[in-house]
Amino acid sequence: MFEISARARELLGRLQAFINEQVLPLEADWSAQRLDAQRRWLPFEPIEALQQRARAQGLWNLFLPDTRYGAGLSQLEYAPLAEAMGRSLLAPQVFNCAAPDSGIVELLSLYGSDAQRERWLRPLLAAEMRSALAVSEPGVGSSDPANLVASLAKRPEGYTLHGRKAWVAGGADPRCQILLVLGLSHPEATLSKRYSLALVPRESHGLKLLRNTSLLGFEEAPGGYAEIEFDQVWVPEDAILLGPGRGLEALQACAGSGRLHQGLMLLGLAQRAFDAMLLRARERVVFGKPLGQQALVQVTLARCHAELEQARLQCLNAAATLDRRGSRLARQQIALVKSLLPELSARIIDQAIQLHGASGLGADHFLAQAYAHARGQRIADGPEELHWLALGRMLVEGDRKTGGA
Ligand SMILES: Cc1cc2nc3c(=O)[nH]c(=O)nc-3n(C[C@H](O)[C@H](O)[C@H](O)COP(=O)(O)OP(=O)(O)OC[C@H]3O[C@@H](n4cnc5c(N)ncnc54)[C@H](O)[C@@H]3O)c2cc1C
Repeated sequence: MFEISARARELLGRLQAFINEQVLPLEADWSAQRLDAQRRWLPFEPIEALQQRARAQGLWNLFLPDTRYGAGLSQLEYAPLAEAMGRSLLAPQVFNCAAPDSGIVELLSLYGSDAQRERWLRPLLAAEMRSALAVSEPGVGSSDPANLVASLAKRPEGYTLHGRKAWVAGGADPRCQILLVLGLSHPEATLSKRYSLALVPRESHGLKLLRNTSLLGFEEAPGGYAEIEFDQVWVPEDAILLGPGRGLEALQACAGSGRLHQGLMLLGLAQRAFDAMLLRARERVVFGKPLGQQALVQVTLARCHAELEQARLQCLNAAATLDRRGSRLARQQIALVKSLLPELSARIIDQAIQLHGASGLGADHFLAQAYAHARGQRIADGPEELHWLALGRMLVEGDRKTGGA
């Protein structure tokens, strides 16, 4: 039904071999470093060498459909590659396809001026630096953009940025050199034209890292979830992306493919949890027989398998629609992926933890970190309720406005 091209199949084979042979064996060291108080805020050294090898083999920036910057794959071609990378929380970084950089790279490639591309896009494409997106704010309901108050006040030759941002993924990483910050620049305008996106170097005067928030106890070092203060930070006019008052428009324009890619990666993570669950069911003996011989376990496995198959088809359908009809007309399919995948993957990983008994909860098992990650995605990039609401609204409004089937 969803045929992938010979090129994508060839890339997938090489990508899977790379992940199995070179990435998965490093995961235990990576996790250990992230739990080590002395070393957790340092970049994981082996990543650089892996990135060089991945780049040399053409397994690089695979998510970018624009051949000037990336592999030039269609969404349908990229879909199985994203799922394969998603099996490991480490892998997307190795192939330079990890959020938040992937979203910021996409924004810069679409809307960056020549100067912005030269200064920020080029090194991000080469993984010479990392980036972060600062939208949410402490103390206000950030699901609703109308609540955001960090200001970008107009001055004669630029703006001053003032306020606090929270949950900035990757904001604490020593490699992070650029933040894309949403600021209130046109308070009197209608909501869609009220905010601008500013490119703010991490070293800017007045920018201060206040603290890191952990995610269900995992600090996600060295990236962290940073709370950052901007105290009258100077932003020159040419550091505004796309144009003044067009911040929400820019974020919205990239949401389609970004949400699909995150959904596919969650699918990969949940599939890995399922595979681990299946192995456990075959090998672990309780009450005189393998777990998998218990009827209750068989039904659980069958249901999880069915849900993963359905989710995969939904993702592929969204990818094909995005290719065929563009992001505006694929909004229903993308909203479905974004609403469904975080909850589904968190639930399947939770089930895999259950079947692993206490060992599934241990901080050194991939399942515990995978669960924290998937659970976080039910809230990151807007809580899932908002995406269900958006989908419901599109269904009620019908074909004409949304392009729905
Ligand atoms: C893992 C993770 C990574 C993140 N990364 C980033 C990042 O890189 N940059 C960044 O700026 N932010 C980031 N965030 C923050 C995230 O975008 C916000 O947490 C999210 O938008 C929700 O805002 P809030 O936490 O203020 O919740 P609130 O707005 O206070 O909402 C609380 C809850 O209310 C419910 N709710 C909200 N609206 C409705 C509604 N209309 N109907 C029914 N229920 C509703 C939902 O259950 C929601 O979870 C991240 C968050 C997480 C968990």
